[in-house]
Amino acid sequence: MIAATCAFFAAAIPCALARRSSVAAWRAQKEAVADPVEILVDRLDLERYKATIKGLTQFGDRRQGTDRNRQAIDWIEAQLKSYGCTNTERLKYDYQPTGPDTRKSLPYTAVGPGLPTPPDAISVGGGRPRGLRTLVGVNNDPGAQPDPKIRALDSQPSSPGAREEVYCTKVGTTHPDEMYIVSGHMDGIGWGEAANDDGSGTALVMELARVLNSPDVQTERSIRFILWNNEETGLNGSTAYVEQRKDLQGKENPPRSGRYPEPKWLGMIQHDMMMFDHGAPRADGTINKEQRPEADFNIEFQLNSKFAAQSQALAWTLEQADEKYATDYPARVGSHMTNTDSSPFMNEVAAISVRENERGTEIGNGWDPQWHQPTDVYKTYYDKDFRLGLNAAQTTLAATAQLAGVTVKGISPPAH
Ligand SMILES: [Zn+2]
Repeated sequence: MIAATCAFFAAAIPCALARRSSVAAWRAQKEAVADPVEILVDRLDLERYKATIKGLTQFGDRRQGTDRNRQAIDWIEAQLKSYGCTNTERLKYDYQPTGPDTRKSLPYTAVGPGLPTPPDAISVGGGRPRGLRTLVGVNNDPGAQPDPKIRALDSQPSSPGAREEVYCTKVGTTHPDEMYIVSGHMDGIGWGEAANDDGSGTALVMELARVLNSPDVQTERSIRFILWNNEETGLNGSTAYVEQRKDLQGKENPPRSGRYPEPKWLGMIQHDMMMFDHGAPRADGTINKEQRPEADFNIEFQLNSKFAAQSQALAWTLEQADEKYATDYPARVGSHMTNTDSSPFMNEVAAISVRENERGTEIGNGWDPQWHQPTDVYKTYYDKDFRLGLNAAQTTLAATAQLAGVTVKGISPPAH
């Protein structure tokens, strides 16, 4: 309107002034009105994410029921406290293995060749696998780990008995009685460093705890950060949590204290293996050394669950957060979530898992040759791998911040 009027009257000088002052006003307004979600996503950083994964690998594979597992839990708890998530708690349970681990020991070198997937194959979780597949399994052979330092670090065997897992909570300002759960599993297997499985998911959750517990960040609803133990033995840590705590949801304790030890569950987002998407096995059984150009990460819900509709909606919320906030990689939604700590939640609340590949059709077909192998060590990965995990962190951070109603001090969200 100003431009048209100016051109018509050819009054160059006053028009330029008018335009400049309106630009200045617009700039001033924009500085005060910024997107708090974007500000938080900018606080994630590739080098910090890598350093947190590296920190976890100092405890080797962190196998449940060992000293290195207990030391890792202590270290994670100290980190959470240092981030400002100071109200850490431990869930306690007992783990007795039902028998010896009967999964076939399978060293990395024995995975080839790539064999055609039978046309009628159905993967765990219910998906339909395609292309070539290789054998997958768990390495239980210490001799398959070439690095003597890592071999020594992983040597103490697991003993049955008392177990713990750590969590902390960002308490909501207006709805402390409701929460979102953001989680990963901190235990591993396979005689490596569990860098990807699941150092990458554990570090993601820790980085989100750091950003969301910054002193200038508030959320209307609570967010709980949980690092499960005993995932690799069959989801025992997350199952114990659901059993012990589902009936405590939303109860104020002590009465009229304003404290809710177990806020009502609004959604659960699990992260497991966030870094490796190099494509499907080739005819000789090998996998590309480089990340595939079309790399993505996968958000899965389980079609055959009580909360399938709500879980699907949560999955699309993350997909939209990826579209808006993730810097490099797209996210894909799938319907076959399986074998992960969100499974014990899926008939109680909206529950999804976030992963480098689909668990059933892709990991199950051999897309990740480091999976439960001695090669799952920090030095196996390069920056593009770490960046895939960082993009998943950006996505869950953005989605959770929006869902929980985030504000950052001094910043007003833009009007829609
Ligand atoms: Zn895992």
